[in-house]
Amino acid sequence: MQGLKISRATHEARWWEKQAGNKVHCYLCPRHCHIGDGQAGFCFIRENRGGKLYSLGYAHPAAMQIDPIEKKPLNHFLPGTRIFSMGTAGCNMGCFFCQNWDISKSRADQVRSSHVPPEDVVSLAIRNGCPSIAFTYNEPTIWGEYVIDICHAAHERGLRTVMVSNGYITREAFHDIYDHVDAANVDLKGFTENFYGRITLTHLAPVLDTLKWLKNETSVWFEITNLIIPTLNDASDETRALAGWILENLGPDVPLHFTAFHPDFKLRDKPRTPPETLHAARRAALDAGLRYVYEGNIYSDGAHTSCPACKAMLIRRSWHDVQEMHLKSGCCPKCGLAIPGRWADSQANGAEQDIRDAEAALGGRYGDLNL
Ligand code: SF4
Repeated sequence: MQGLKISRATHEARWWEKQAGNKVHCYLCPRHCHIGDGQAGFCFIRENRGGKLYSLGYAHPAAMQIDPIEKKPLNHFLPGTRIFSMGTAGCNMGCFFCQNWDISKSRADQVRSSHVPPEDVVSLAIRNGCPSIAFTYNEPTIWGEYVIDICHAAHERGLRTVMVSNGYITREAFHDIYDHVDAANVDLKGFTENFYGRITLTHLAPVLDTLKWLKNETSVWFEITNLIIPTLNDASDETRALAGWILENLGPDVPLHFTAFHPDFKLRDKPRTPPETLHAARRAALDAGLRYVYEGNIYSDGAHTSCPACKAMLIRRSWHDVQEMHLKSGCCPKCGLAIPGRWADSQANGAEQDIRDAEAALGGRYGDLNL
């Protein structure tokens, strides 16, 4: 294990500055950790070694698998396609309800991981017929150096990239990362500072800033997820306030996903979210003026996309499956309304030659990956 740690520590991090006494200040996320020699930041995977900060997650994914893109969730970005999904260890939030806590609450040396350079991530995605790659499962901001290098390699070969993020990032790092990604789903975990402070050990305001930067300063396609937890963030006035803020600051066309909680990690005493709570939240957000509001983690008609003008069914879904696709060149086939999103597939779409090239580039490595 010691040898593994040494090899991980060879990738120097970005977004840090030296301090007195061999300390470093990491300013990648709003925690602004001040890290002593030999210690790691709150997220576990940025470590001070001899007065320099290293990214222990670089090229060391702890999880890789193929998901439907609807699982991220993204409903207006390459619907019906598969996405190569990967995560590392650690997280910069401390959510009591984390549903991937086995990796997000682990140090880099506590998870099983493979060494996978950026170019190989892209070859693995192509080999598995995925036109896009998701940085997900744990918070990708904390391994932003790896994210950026994968994005470069992916774009060279016609693939797109997706951040699935808690949105907890500083102004200093925001454009360095998001200028390279094509889409994002940002968790807006609640809409009170009390909830963010007590249940996620962070703050609400930086997440709202990130959403405004995405809207006003990038061309990233983004959607928002709000996991509704009974008794903690399910009050109807909180839901209305959240929807009203989105409408006012981001406009009516940003898709919003209300998803159901299941008991996990430190919140095993809370019940599952009743479907009626999701239905009521969706109704309230639509009434507030949002046009694309979804329900997730349950079977529901709230998974479909309908035309906000003529109500025609555009995309029929069952959980994460796309069952019917009626959009024509991104427009409603009945009334012609343009539906916001990124509908066209990318070039890397499972062409046999692309897959053969990817196999050759991988040279038989990762043959045992259970994808
Ligand atoms: S990215 Fe990690 S080390 Fe850096 S400030 Fe955030 S929690 Fe601390």
